[in-house]
Amino acid sequence: MSNPSRLAIVPFVSVDNMMKLVLATGIERFLTELAAYIEDDFRRWEKFDKTPRVASHSHDGVIELMPTSDGQMYGFKYVNGHPKNARTGKQTVTAFGMLADVGSGYPMLLTEMTILTALRTAATSALAARLLARKDARTMAIIGNGAQAEFQAVAFKALLGIDRLRLFDIDRTASEKCAGNLAGMGLDVAICASGQEAVEGADIITTVTADKQYATILTDNMVGAGVHINAVGGDCPGKTELHRDILLRSAIFVEYPPQTRIEGEIQQLPADYRVTELWEVMTGAAPGRTSADEITLFDSVGFAIEDFSALRYVRDRLAETGLYDNLDLLADPDEPRDLFGMLLRAQADG
Ligand code: NAD
Repeated sequence: MSNPSRLAIVPFVSVDNMMKLVLATGIERFLTELAAYIEDDFRRWEKFDKTPRVASHSHDGVIELMPTSDGQMYGFKYVNGHPKNARTGKQTVTAFGMLADVGSGYPMLLTEMTILTALRTAATSALAARLLARKDARTMAIIGNGAQAEFQAVAFKALLGIDRLRLFDIDRTASEKCAGNLAGMGLDVAICASGQEAVEGADIITTVTADKQYATILTDNMVGAGVHINAVGGDCPGKTELHRDILLRSAIFVEYPPQTRIEGEIQQLPADYRVTELWEVMTGAAPGRTSADEITLFDSVGFAIEDFSALRYVRDRLAETGLYDNLDLLADPDEPRDLFGMLLRAQADG
């Protein structure tokens, strides 16, 4: 794949190597270390270039670019969201991403990010819940048991010590797949017949369904005092999961308000409705949960800085693990202005 005589080689992490990296690290350790990278970057939030992601919507889904920079490195992710894909055996969400050196503009890493997105989404959710959920939380309901669900479960176990799960999906085979994958991981898992049954006794409710509509996965009567809601599936204009009345009873925490107001549950609320930014809770600039009875809501949509942190974390693991290929991605002639000559020499070399 690479020509060793060329200097401008970019490390590439394939799906295969990403899986090896996660498994060699251990999923819980990977999630815990990744969460620490995300927290580090959220704590220096003001240093980053921030913009809502650039979305191209179509009838069946969305394709998005998610860029950010801390002035030293620049990262972006390509990601799609196509709820109907599952019907034809495809993933709802796929992604890849890149990290680059701001000084030279040269790419430093190209990587798969479908698995990495599930990991960073779960790590961010668990980080938020560690700040916002009641400290005695042990039981989590997960509504929507598709591709993201197990990652959420393992992240909440690793970061919060959640050890009881209550699963619900409109497709029971998804719940069975989820329970099967989590067997032997130290989690007590129950499959429930309805969302209502799943939330009974749950300290934390994770909604991670995929449907391109204003859905009502949770109604107001399903959410009791003191619950933390981790709302992950509503992440596009016209795609939400919670009844508006729940939002009105909750203290709402978000990643980046200009993006969340377009994409999150709070698209149902007035544009100036009061929300708290998660990074401010991390730095102590804003309070998190203020009482045991409060309902806290993390209105997750996924923000570029989380991907940047994930790219940084993967890059920092490369030298130690060697789990990458060298990618011949960059034309870099010995004489920088002789790009054409490089082409001619390649022709002469046959
Ligand atoms: P998926 O298609 O693999 O799984 C979704 C599951 O939801 C399916 O099993 C489906 O049967 C179930 N479902 C649909 N409607 C339901 C309902 N009314 N009640 C219960 N279950 C229902 O999708 P995925 O990759 O797991 O992603 C789930 C959602 O999370 C998507 O909407 C995706 O866009 C979103 N997501 C958000 C972030 C973020 O950062 N916030 C990151 C990744 C994915």
